[in-house]
Amino acid sequence: MHWVVERHGATGSGSLSYSARFSPTSPYVTDTQKITDLPIEGYERVVRCTDTATGLHAIISVHDTTLGPALGGLRMWPYANEADALFDVKRLSRGMTYKSAVAKTGLGGGKAVIIGDPKKIKTEGLYLAMGRCIDALGGKYITAEDVNTSIEDLEVVRRATKWVTGLARKNSGSGNPSPYTAYGVFLGVRAALGWQFGNDSPKGRTVVIQGVGAVGSDLARRLIEAGAKVYAADKNLERLQQLQKELGLIPVDEDRVMQMKCDVFAPCALGAIITDESIPLLQCSIVAGAANNLLLEPRHGKALADRGILYAPDYVINAGGIINVSVEFNDGGYDEQAALTKIERIPQALRELWTMAKEDRIPPSDAADRLADRILSEARGAKKAASCGAPYKGVRGNGCC
Ligand code: NAD
Repeated sequence: MHWVVERHGATGSGSLSYSARFSPTSPYVTDTQKITDLPIEGYERVVRCTDTATGLHAIISVHDTTLGPALGGLRMWPYANEADALFDVKRLSRGMTYKSAVAKTGLGGGKAVIIGDPKKIKTEGLYLAMGRCIDALGGKYITAEDVNTSIEDLEVVRRATKWVTGLARKNSGSGNPSPYTAYGVFLGVRAALGWQFGNDSPKGRTVVIQGVGAVGSDLARRLIEAGAKVYAADKNLERLQQLQKELGLIPVDEDRVMQMKCDVFAPCALGAIITDESIPLLQCSIVAGAANNLLLEPRHGKALADRGILYAPDYVINAGGIINVSVEFNDGGYDEQAALTKIERIPQALRELWTMAKEDRIPPSDAADRLADRILSEARGAKKAASCGAPYKGVRGNGCC
């Protein structure tokens, strides 16, 4: 793939902006496509990708590649404007760096968002154009499934770039990540029960699940099989009734879900639901679920701890999916058993965080961030030492600088 890079001069922030377009020698010749760098402090590379032919308007954020290439899903969402999309992609890509660091996937953090309503803009041409943009980053960003981007959409992206993970098993991918995320959350719920009650068995425990989609329904099944009494709410009432018949879960009203007396509240729908308003209403001992960015603000981790509620940090307990995908990078390719073995380490990771939180008198959410920061700074130190010749924790460099 050949790109022409153009320099556009100083931007308002004083930095330079670059854009790139496909050169006529590219196998995907198009004069309509453009990539523009958006320099942002603390992020390795953020680019805007546009294509006037297909209406593509996307942003790719490579937050950090210290630990490996930046892997994160490709989301399509009707953001009101580019600023909202940029805010979201920055937040999500940084979250992926932290998630992968703690899960020890050997990957960095990235994310991509396509701006637009999937009902209106989704076309094969658009995903091909997106694939070309991803390809232009040369493997620094690797994409995967996310909200409104299915495995079928990724198969289209794959035609334009090899930097795609999570494809169907028949195409040598690791397949749908949701069952692996659910498995990790189930193990994390058990670990939390063990920590709070001294017995990790779900038998006889009450769990309330918010959102029984791909992850929440599988979590419900596992918990019911293990003897828990499971209540669940979902916006999709038809699905809820279906699961009531299939699994024996007990449907509850969407508005009551956070106020129910239970052992575990498992949010598996939306983020940012742990807030000043919701925390006083909670009647659970544990908050442990799959949804990303559960705390509206970092201080809400402390507010949960102050109420004696044990929190399983979201990006630690829900790492099963990314762990599964990361196994695609192993020598010899994807191996389900290797993925399961790594996912089964989630309970131990959680226990270490809860121990750290107790000893350092900080909320578990802060302990997770602290651990991720430590892993990243040690890796940066080791990299620097390797390139400059200084020994760092046993790593000796090549003396080049
Ligand atoms: P999904 O879209 O399959 O399911 C979400 C479900 O929540 C849907 O059934 C939806 O109807 C329901 N819902 C939406 N708003 C609701 C509300 N206000 N009250 C009750 N139910 C509501 O998504 P998923 O793949 O199951 O993921 C669930 C959550 O876990 C998301 O936040 C996702 O970002 C996160 N997560 C998923 C994975 C994965 O592997 N799928 C990995 C990590 C994190």
